[in-house]
Amino acid sequence: MNVVLYRGLIALLLLFASTANAGSCVVLMYHHFSDTKPKSTSVSPELFEQHLQYLQDNHFKVLKLKTMLAHLKEGTLPNKCVVLTADDAYQSIAENAYPLLEKYQMPMSVFVATEPMDKKYPAMMSWQKMRDIQGEIMQFYNHTSTHSHLLDLNKEQVKVKITQAQNRLEQQLGKREKILAYPYGEASLAILNQVKNMGYSAFGQHSGVVSETSNRQNLPRFPMATRYAKMSSFKTKVNALPMPIKAKTTNPIFTQNPPTLTLEFSKPLNKYQQNNFNCFASGGVNMTWEGNQSVAITANNPLDYRRNKYNCTMPSGQKGRYYWYSVQWVNLKIKEQ
Ligand SMILES: [Zn+2]
Repeated sequence: MNVVLYRGLIALLLLFASTANAGSCVVLMYHHFSDTKPKSTSVSPELFEQHLQYLQDNHFKVLKLKTMLAHLKEGTLPNKCVVLTADDAYQSIAENAYPLLEKYQMPMSVFVATEPMDKKYPAMMSWQKMRDIQGEIMQFYNHTSTHSHLLDLNKEQVKVKITQAQNRLEQQLGKREKILAYPYGEASLAILNQVKNMGYSAFGQHSGVVSETSNRQNLPRFPMATRYAKMSSFKTKVNALPMPIKAKTTNPIFTQNPPTLTLEFSKPLNKYQQNNFNCFASGGVNMTWEGNQSVAITANNPLDYRRNKYNCTMPSGQKGRYYWYSVQWVNLKIKEQ
């Protein structure tokens, strides 16, 4: 083989390897760890241990949240990366999850709404408890002070809810990174921008995989509870890969009901990929392809819940690994207490 051709081939292989290995990370979201607590948001300690055992047996890199975000910033996310998070700082995290996390030496980040702690709600951990367990295994971050629907507040109020929570966390537990989880995963484009200007990375509650194309102020997490936490579903989620699309920020607040989501793939899809690209919404979706690199997705029915999701998947070509992308839409006309 002549040298020029050989060099060209090597360059091509390296290019392929670099795109094939672009890292990503699956972030999981838990709430309660209990056999008895609210079924809709609980995972039993037995099932949670099976999750950790699977991650250990299959050599996943379970990173601290802040470590994952540092890798994301530097473009050095590894393959098979998982981050564990839990929202609301319930007692059952300390009682049932913490001992298992210690046993498997895996870290978890917990998002705390600080007012329930200050009011000493019995379902929640105390500040003292959080001081006792924070460290290499357990970290605590911002979930606003009052767990309000941020969309019901004005700009100044949003700022106060986030800043107050950060101040309380730092007074009680020490200095920490600016990392936020929106209550109910609800935000608007204006809030994403505001939070960015305040210097926060932020998580929603829509499923999907963190990658370099993710919006840093609306990062996805896979909810872990009910049937989604069962081992078969858990395995699918932790093995998921980011949908190969161009970076895109969708306003979660829609003006037309049902809204249309347009995805631009990073390269043309082959027939197999195109035929196996699927999206789900309550009542089904209509998909309109423009060539083989762009698709418009619209639900068949108006979105009449407060929070509605479009979930899209496509086989990646790697066994058991699906590309995943999802959007949470919020219907502001539906009020919630
Ligand atoms: Zn919450």
